[in-house]
Amino acid sequence: MSHVFHRMPRQAYPVAVGGEGAYVLDADGKRYLDASGGAAVSCLGHSHAGVIAAIKAQLDALPFAHTSFFTTPAAEALADLLAESAPPGLDHVYFVSGGSEAIEAALKLARQYFVERGEPQRRRFIARRQSYHGNTLGALAVGGNLGRRTLFEPLLIDVEHVSPCYAYRDQQAGETAQAYGERLARELDATIERLGAETVIGFVAETVSGATLGAVPAVPGYFQRLREVCDRHGILLILDEVMCGMGRTGTLFACEQEGMVPDIVTVAKGLGAGYQPIGAMIASSKVYEAILAGSGFFHHGHTYVGHAAACAGALAVQRAIAEENLLARVRELGAGLASRLRQVFQHHEHVGDIRGRGLFWGLEFVADKAAKLPFDPALRLHARIKANAMHEGLMCYPSGGTLDGRAGDHVLLAPPYILEEPQLDEIVEKLGRAVDRSIAEIR
Ligand code: PLP
Repeated sequence: MSHVFHRMPRQAYPVAVGGEGAYVLDADGKRYLDASGGAAVSCLGHSHAGVIAAIKAQLDALPFAHTSFFTTPAAEALADLLAESAPPGLDHVYFVSGGSEAIEAALKLARQYFVERGEPQRRRFIARRQSYHGNTLGALAVGGNLGRRTLFEPLLIDVEHVSPCYAYRDQQAGETAQAYGERLARELDATIERLGAETVIGFVAETVSGATLGAVPAVPGYFQRLREVCDRHGILLILDEVMCGMGRTGTLFACEQEGMVPDIVTVAKGLGAGYQPIGAMIASSKVYEAILAGSGFFHHGHTYVGHAAACAGALAVQRAIAEENLLARVRELGAGLASRLRQVFQHHEHVGDIRGRGLFWGLEFVADKAAKLPFDPALRLHARIKANAMHEGLMCYPSGGTLDGRAGDHVLLAPPYILEEPQLDEIVEKLGRAVDRSIAEIR
């Protein structure tokens, strides 16, 4: 019996013992091509010598120094690098240990920003349905994934949810992408008016929707319209790039492709690439300076904030992304992956939608393509695809249809940026077999 408290205690997990580039090796010597980077984490694969050496060097020098007492060269250099590469104005980096912590920090900073400015009546967030922002209680509250929220609903702060930007299902026949984006902006505007702008702190959204919808980019212009709405009402715009940030979509920050700048952005997975647990909240000067001019103290903190070994690892990851020219590689490999996915799955009778950006792609499965009808969630098609893909030696990240029936099962692909061209073929071939076997099982 395993004494590890696994998330699904009845399930048997292969034992991972090694990593070689884009592959994970189990104790029986089986190789798994990591086509999802775990959950969009391992962007440099599993054996990057430079990153491992940087972490070892930091451990030799100093593993940890509590941030109540010290800063470290690694944290300073990483913050410099992020501030220099982030969209203009996003200059102040707060390090945490993962994505949920980054969101918690963003929510608390946003609230404190208004308190410092003498607007303590601002206490509400608006976020989107069918979104995911993490599993801690604050992050769950802003999240709109019913499957993850429902059990904990009585414990959650009151958050208002508006529609996600989900063109496959919600853009109406005859409606242009621009008109669809404007309709969603009007919905946010009306929601703020209804709640009373003076009570609202901010609006939270994933720049590209990840775990709940499966790599859904917004329609062009959507985020610019939302930025205008937030500005008109004086509320903060917080973008969650925990999954889609740090190069995953072909630019370091996904919002670079949206022509607007948020007030706060969160990143995590691709920051440390799985070599160390680390996340960050990056705040604009506007927000930071309100704290500086006010109490001069951010009312937040965790023991492992700015962990030296984690910062050294993330610094090496980010330097590797720059030095190995990996953003260009993401764009190039991403185009190759997209065309292969379309070749193999576009005419598949149960693949309703193929969407994504860079090396971040999702396939949505439907029982009836014309009606966009999801499979019965009880069939757990996504879990079958994951299991059959593992049997093939392929990792893909599954998610079920939403409980409200407004999305089908899907799988997410987020392979490492260091992938080789032939591995794109391996991904689609193995995934194709896993999908067909899974659908045969439920017929
Ligand atoms: N935000 C987004 C968009 C995510 O995809 C995730 C995790 O999947 C999180 C937040 C939470 O991150 P973590 O699991 O590191 O706490």
